[in-house]
Amino acid sequence: MPLRKLALVTLIALLLTVAIGWLIGTPAAVAFLFVAAFGIAVWNFARLVRLIAIGESESLLDLVVYRVEAGIAYVFGEKKLLEDFWAGAMHLFFLYGFITLSVGHFELVLREVTAGWVDGGIGFHLLKPTGSFGALVYRLFLLSQDYAAILIVPVSLIALVRRWVHRPVRLSPRSQDAENILWFIVVLYATFFLLNGAEVALGDDYGWYRPWSYWAGYLLFGVSDQWGGVAGSPLFGPAARDTVALWREIGLWSHLLIFFSFLNYLPYSKHLHLIAAFPNIFLRRFTPRGQPQLLDFENSEVFGKSRIEQYSFKTLLDSFACTECARCNDVCPAHLSHKPLKPKKVVHDLKLNLYRNEHALLPWKAAWRAAKRSGAELPPAPEQRPAELITREEIAKERYGFMGQYPTDGQVHVDELWSCTTCAACVEACPVLIESVPVSLIDLRRHLVMMESDFPSELTACFKGMEVQGNPWAIGGDKREEWCAGLDVPLLRDQGGREVEYLFWVGCAGATDDRAKKIQQALVKILKAAQVDFAILGNEERCNGDPARRMGNEYLYLQMVEAVREIFAKYKFKKIVTACPHCYNAFKHDYRQFGMELDVIHHSELIWQLIDHKRIALRATDAPWPLTFHDPCYLGRYNGIYQPPRSALGRIGGVELREMERHGKKSYCCGAGGGRMWMEEHLGERINNERTKQALATGVKTICVACPFCMTMLTDGTKALDLEDEVKVLDLAEVVARQLQA
Ligand code: SF4
Ligand code: SF4
Repeated sequence: MPLRKLALVTLIALLLTVAIGWLIGTPAAVAFLFVAAFGIAVWNFARLVRLIAIGESESLLDLVVYRVEAGIAYVFGEKKLLEDFWAGAMHLFFLYGFITLSVGHFELVLREVTAGWVDGGIGFHLLKPTGSFGALVYRLFLLSQDYAAILIVPVSLIALVRRWVHRPVRLSPRSQDAENILWFIVVLYATFFLLNGAEVALGDDYGWYRPWSYWAGYLLFGVSDQWGGVAGSPLFGPAARDTVALWREIGLWSHLLIFFSFLNYLPYSKHLHLIAAFPNIFLRRFTPRGQPQLLDFENSEVFGKSRIEQYSFKTLLDSFACTECARCNDVCPAHLSHKPLKPKKVVHDLKLNLYRNEHALLPWKAAWRAAKRSGAELPPAPEQRPAELITREEIAKERYGFMGQYPTDGQVHVDELWSCTTCAACVEACPVLIESVPVSLIDLRRHLVMMESDFPSELTACFKGMEVQGNPWAIGGDKREEWCAGLDVPLLRDQGGREVEYLFWVGCAGATDDRAKKIQQALVKILKAAQVDFAILGNEERCNGDPARRMGNEYLYLQMVEAVREIFAKYKFKKIVTACPHCYNAFKHDYRQFGMELDVIHHSELIWQLIDHKRIALRATDAPWPLTFHDPCYLGRYNGIYQPPRSALGRIGGVELREMERHGKKSYCCGAGGGRMWMEEHLGERINNERTKQALATGVKTICVACPFCMTMLTDGTKALDLEDEVKVLDLAEVVARQLQA
């Protein structure tokens, strides 16, 4: 319901309430207002459900018990928010304060509706069983109301002042919606004390269980009581009983009106997450993090997504569950480097696009469902619509908003969708487990690449390289063995059909990039020292296709997968070891979508195992060696591997690991993921330079990495800062190989 219509309906409801109150009495007026407010709220929520149902269906009802447990842990236990204790504690207070006080609001309505004919004329009291135990329960309930209300007012005022005065970057720019809600809360509980204070002044029961209502009554009207209070307000002097009774009515009606308005403002505000968070977490996907969906090339003619109705209902639900807390922006390397992409905006844009196209899409979806039920031909989605999802609009620099944001509300700009490094920092940070941003952006890329052949020009060479030479740098496929010349590295083709323990997957960077080749050479040294049974594919190895997938070229990705499948079928190996987290992630998760169950291990895990099982011995460094470790996104956030590289470094005497502020789950991307390795960085600042600065802030001269892409990006960072000679970027394999005992 548009806001103007809502205002009109509200006005009519208010006029009717006044008329009913005048003609029949207060209980009937309260009952009418209650029914009207809930009726409008139900109508609004039903509209949201219809909007979300425009999305594609998705089966997300397996593992119900686990889903319920997760819902309880993340919503009622604030599991995610409590990772930051103070933020979590504050939110817990708001949540339970809201729940506690909501019970009080319903009790108030019940009491007013039944006043005069229940419980000796004072109305029905929820939570007030008879007897002394009942009285105690009710008093504890009143105590909870008093304390929750008195605490929530100053906390809301502090939150408001924080938004005006010392606003953190995360809460910028100012959100009118957030401030509206805080004002609602302040006024709601100011009127709570007006009502309760007047009731106490009029002789209502009070004691230790209504301390703040007592003080409100005493200060506003004066209370003559057993505590020794004096009649007459110390602020306003004595008040006639009728005057206090009038203030009680004003308190009652303003409190009820604000509460009911809040209820109906909820569906239009970010506080809708109070309702949507639980279903959103309950319906979370259990697919591997950041994994794009399979496409049906056989039966479909549409690849990727360019329109809102093509997204799953779950992605649309995400957009309504978003709390707009901006925690995702706060960790997004694209946002922090002043690029137009802000994950919060992407989530919000999907919702706005849905609203804008509501009148075109709702009738179409109804017709679509009817056709599906009857087996008739499905009607196509409307071509003409108020807002397309993807925009290429030229945005002049002077129109950039906060930290480089584009003014494209309700639409995703091509500059935004190509800025994503798919680092999943936004996924990790989200308190309501919204994990859809990187995949939603890959879906848009898929449409641009496969349906419109529209992508950054640099990618042409990259796609061609993968297609023709089997690697994105287009280096001749026959050069993939050059890195190991003279190292006596076993080749699978020379094993005579024997099954080897490990297929050592070198990866395209490792096989073709001069700096990354040294990582592979160091790893060979370690594997040989530990007498690991391994072999490489050599010139037979090809890119596994992951860069093509992240860049939206699923068609090419599929070709690469099939080529790798054929090569793997030729040889026998038990496991795969690789120094590239992108290859690791592809084999571990994505290849399963194609029926390939592969046992894969990252070199950091294997190195740690070899050290721990005493298959290699390390000597201490000659002098203390302070270094920092950069967590690769596809190793850490995508696969939860944080400890093995640290444990391995911890076994080298003299090595002193100094963590960066952003490390582990909160690590900052190097800027190469999502195919960004092959794209120019025209907008904002360079992400790799920022990460290099973060590493150097620890005071070290060695940055340890565990990914060849991170190696390139951070080495470039040291060059950009003119510190190439002073600061070394080394892979974990190189650090360990240097310290191998002879
Ligand atoms: S995946 Fe990374 S780069 Fe992409 S939107 Fe999320 S935080 Fe930003
Ligand atoms: S972190 Fe999650 S809830 Fe917060 S703004 Fe981002 S998407 Fe929304």
